Amino acid sequence: MSNKDIDWDGLGFGYIKTDKRYVSYYKDDAWDEGALISDENIVMNECAGVLQYAQTIFEGLKAYRSKNGDIVTFRPDLNAKRMRDSALRLEMPAFPEDRFVEAVLKTVRANADYVPPYGSGATLYIRPFMYGKNPVIGVKPASEYEFRIFTTPVGPYFKGGVKPLTLKVSDFDRAAPHGTGNIKAGLNYAMSLHAIVTAHEEGYDENLYPDAATRTYVEETGGANFIFVTKDKKKIVTPRSDSILPSITKRSLITVAKDYLGLEVEECKIPIDRLSDYSECGLCGTAAVISPVGKIADHGKEIIFGDDPEKPGEICMKLREILTGIQLGEIEAPDGWIYKV
Ligand SMILES: *Cc1c(COP(=O)(O)O)cnc(C)c1O
Repeated sequence: MSNKDIDWDGLGFGYIKTDKRYVSYYKDDAWDEGALISDENIVMNECAGVLQYAQTIFEGLKAYRSKNGDIVTFRPDLNAKRMRDSALRLEMPAFPEDRFVEAVLKTVRANADYVPPYGSGATLYIRPFMYGKNPVIGVKPASEYEFRIFTTPVGPYFKGGVKPLTLKVSDFDRAAPHGTGNIKAGLNYAMSLHAIVTAHEEGYDENLYPDAATRTYVEETGGANFIFVTKDKKKIVTPRSDSILPSITKRSLITVAKDYLGLEVEECKIPIDRLSDYSECGLCGTAAVISPVGKIADHGKEIIFGDDPEKPGEICMKLREILTGIQLGEIEAPDGWIYKV
């Protein structure tokens, strides 16, 4: 597909092939120099480590067309660092962090025609990933890996305005204590598929996963972290747990809350049965920025945030406006947040 055929306003969240992708191969204990290539297909052995034992990790970030026409990415150094942490946890070689950032910028540059226009609400989604490629039949880490980055243009998460989500407290667990919940691994998503399909069938947008050990504290959804706002609207509270994936969006929103809105921030264990202490709830991640949650169903009990579950919370919307303003070059960014492509 040529970028000229893309209907920017009609974009959803699906894969559209763009011109170039970055590839680097790891063999004999070293990464090769890497290259941009055109072929979107991968050929591998039937016994590849990724196919048999799911040795694969990924990242997700976006390129934005800013107000002055520049193409920028948001804190790719943090994705580089997180991917390193994910790799080491799955006994994979880390891709050097400086090379990761360079490769992201290079891939976006090569696909610049696919970065949606400013004001469209659409962005170029960037997907770095890495997987074990050589044959592995005895259970052990692969010895050869491919690191790739592809891009695909995506539409805004909310079309036609932000609408609060309805969640359910899931009967399934996402991440075990001391497990892999804190890394971005495909395996965490494979096991969430049945839970999300079930939730959708029951009419919910997302699952709230409780901590797997006691099932009493809030952890996160399948792909986004939680932020809560106290009733006096002076404080942001976010769950503390070793099995939550450390969201870059959440970390950025915490800085925005403190430095731009003068709010207090606390990270602590949040019991599910105390959720009615909060006036707002939001889900944070690259895809949605921050999505307001209107309602959470907990086995016959309903927790409603704010006076009207159809209306997004005021603090959530302020946080959202400031962070997207920073990403689009409308509001001055803290040092080091914006990388010009
Ligand atoms: C990617 C991801 C997030 C969001 O992280 P961002 O860096 O903000 O995009 C949250 N939870 C899970 C499980 C994730 O995989």
